Amino acid sequence: MTRPTLRMCARCQRTTEEPVLVHEVHAPTGPGFNVYACPECAVHYPPMPDVLEVLESVGRRSPTPTRPTQKGTPPQ
Ligand SMILES: [Zn+2]
Repeated sequence: MTRPTLRMCARCQRTTEEPVLVHEVHAPTGPGFNVYACPECAVHYPPMPDVLEVLESVGRRSPTPTRPTQKGTPPQ
């Protein structure tokens, strides 16, 4: 029974069916986890950046910061 293993690339953040293990994270507590990249990114994967930083950037997905719109009378 084979089914495609979908992993998210840690670099381009796209899912890939051919994940390449680029880093193993050993957590002080718990089993830790693996970091995968797609074959394309794995080739030139940078020397492991701060994983927590990567995860943080994934968590925060706010493409455009919302600005409060200023409603009022235009200056005359
Ligand atoms: Zn990638």
